[in-house]
Amino acid sequence: MSSIASTAGIVSFEQARRLVEQHAAGVRSGEVETVDLLAALGRVLAEGIVADRDFPPFARATRDGYAVRAADLAEVPAQLEVVGAVKAGDWPEPGVCSVGRGQAVEIMTGAPLPAGADAVVMVEHTSLAEHSVEVRRNVSRGENFVPCGAEARAGQLLLDRGRRLDHAGIAIAATVGKSRVQIFRKPRVAVLSTGDEVVEIEATPGAAQIRNSNSYSLAAQVQNAGGEAVRLAIAPDERGRLRSLIEEGLGCDLLLLTGGVSMGKYDLVEQVLGELQAEFYFTGAEIQPGRPIVFGSCGADALARAEGQAAAGTRARAPAPHKRYFFGLPGNPVSTMVTFELFARPMIEALSGQTPQRLIFLRARLKSEIRTKTGLKRFLPAVLSGEFENAEVELARWQGSGDIATLARANCYVVVPPDRERIDSGEWVSLLMR
Ligand code: AMP
Ligand code: MG
Repeated sequence: MSSIASTAGIVSFEQARRLVEQHAAGVRSGEVETVDLLAALGRVLAEGIVADRDFPPFARATRDGYAVRAADLAEVPAQLEVVGAVKAGDWPEPGVCSVGRGQAVEIMTGAPLPAGADAVVMVEHTSLAEHSVEVRRNVSRGENFVPCGAEARAGQLLLDRGRRLDHAGIAIAATVGKSRVQIFRKPRVAVLSTGDEVVEIEATPGAAQIRNSNSYSLAAQVQNAGGEAVRLAIAPDERGRLRSLIEEGLGCDLLLLTGGVSMGKYDLVEQVLGELQAEFYFTGAEIQPGRPIVFGSCGADALARAEGQAAAGTRARAPAPHKRYFFGLPGNPVSTMVTFELFARPMIEALSGQTPQRLIFLRARLKSEIRTKTGLKRFLPAVLSGEFENAEVELARWQGSGDIATLARANCYVVVPPDRERIDSGEWVSLLMR
């Protein structure tokens, strides 16, 4: 880990992302549990999934028709003697059901190819008479069946450990007979909202108060990323209480704070983390929204105190690693959501045992021009519309980083490079989907 640069200043978006990825590459995932296959949807494999047999396990017909020898159809139309039939689930015993010169066996999709045959001719190109079939089209050897083992060989690794299971992964596990699979325990991610004005969502807010939406949006994002959110009490803008809640949060696998990281008089998060001897990897990124984002870790001393709190609390935990990472996300709700996706997500993915994913932007044509200022990489809420190959994107008209009503109507962010102050309609732009 010592090879990773510690900048502790304001860095570009790309530097910030690299720093997170480098630290994420060094974290270890949690314990392993074994669950029923469908309960593993969205979870991360703690074991590799291996082919238990060849796939396909037999030469499998991909069409309904006749198993033939391609050489017999050099000249068409050709008359072939029909010597048998195989449907899916039948096993054509060689000698009992095989294809000799001038012969054909009726075959259905999914059935094993009989010995002697080297192609399947589609039923559409044939006409059946008494005991023979007339074939009007020729076929090449190998046509319309998949050879035994062509998709995978017995013993071959089909899904890596560290892979998050989606429906395709579930299909693989199912096809090799894994009714139960080993997965990693979800990382516990503490979510700590700060601010004197922030109240619980059940409360009736006073005139100058707002409800704590960030703890909920973050909890939802944590779950989406494969973590388990632990929502802590709201921290007031007061050192002592903030510090004890941060210590509580450090008892989880990762701590996400929101609010209190700007330059205001009551933005105490960095100060309190400093008191806990935190190491800061960056304390801002050249992005908008989200510029004040902070990324760092707390070492052994702070963790020992956190462990003390956890032991006194409800849950005992596995032995602690030597440090715990935290993100101080800006309090503005849109900034919180964007910075989570850009920086916190890869750390949660890594803690959940996933191979860290690269961030990929998509491209679409801009529907109406963008004017902005240079200097920051911008992630601006936008609406991707159109249909099929004709996607087009347009900025949502928003009131800034606090505007969750507009954000909820948007479905992506347009990524504006820091050197562009104008992008014309019709230009291709990068998108971050959400
Ligand atoms: P801060 O980053 O603490 O300066 O907060 C920036 C803005 O985000 C302020 O308008 C806060 O009221 C708002 N804010 C901070 N925390 C939350 C929260 N948990 N839920 C909703 N809005 C918040
Ligand atoms: Mg605040």
